[in-house]
Amino acid sequence: MRILVVEDEPNLGRALQRGLRAEGFEVDLVGDGAEGLWMIREGSYDAMVLDIMLPGKNGYEVCRELRAERNWIPILMLTAKSGEFDEAEGLDTGADDYLTKPFSFVVLVARLRALLRRGSRGEGDAYTIGDLTLDPVSHRCHRGEVEIPLTAREVAVLGFLMRRKGTIVSKQEILDNVWDIGFEGDPNIVEVYMRRIRKKIDEPFGTRSITTVRGAGYRMEPAEG
Ligand code: CA
Repeated sequence: MRILVVEDEPNLGRALQRGLRAEGFEVDLVGDGAEGLWMIREGSYDAMVLDIMLPGKNGYEVCRELRAERNWIPILMLTAKSGEFDEAEGLDTGADDYLTKPFSFVVLVARLRALLRRGSRGEGDAYTIGDLTLDPVSHRCHRGEVEIPLTAREVAVLGFLMRRKGTIVSKQEILDNVWDIGFEGDPNIVEVYMRRIRKKIDEPFGTRSITTVRGAGYRMEPAEG
């Protein structure tokens, strides 16, 4: 497994490189966002650890550019302090997960392994519910002929619901499967994502494919027009 670490604080960068190598990863380290972007485009990496405040290009820009090119490499973002990074907004740039500094190295490795598992999973057919389709590999989502742009996290949430179609999925199950076990942020993040997903896959089409089951969770069914 090859990891690219983009971190401009030399001590932290080197510590990450050493630590991840000790965990058995091949690790390259760069300290500049533009260079990181170039390395990802040119190299074959399995995941990226990306600082936000960087010379060259910042982490948000790097992320946004990769996703715009339909490059879905798993990205774990590092943020300097809570507050610098608004999770709901920040993940819109297409990061898959984030960690606030100072973080525990053990947690970083666990999150990275979770991303790698998720990243290598995506084989198989597209999920289909009624005229809604989601291809977990290409991240393409369509309602009929209309392509719906989704962020990486929205794909993960929607994909989880679609795999479990017809059954009630609790908020906690979504958190455990899409975020990570041990997620310490606000669990209401699930509701935030549910609102955004409905706004994209249902509202413009006048459909309702996600039902909220009070006190229990959510259920996906073929859209009723
Ligand atoms: Ca930095």
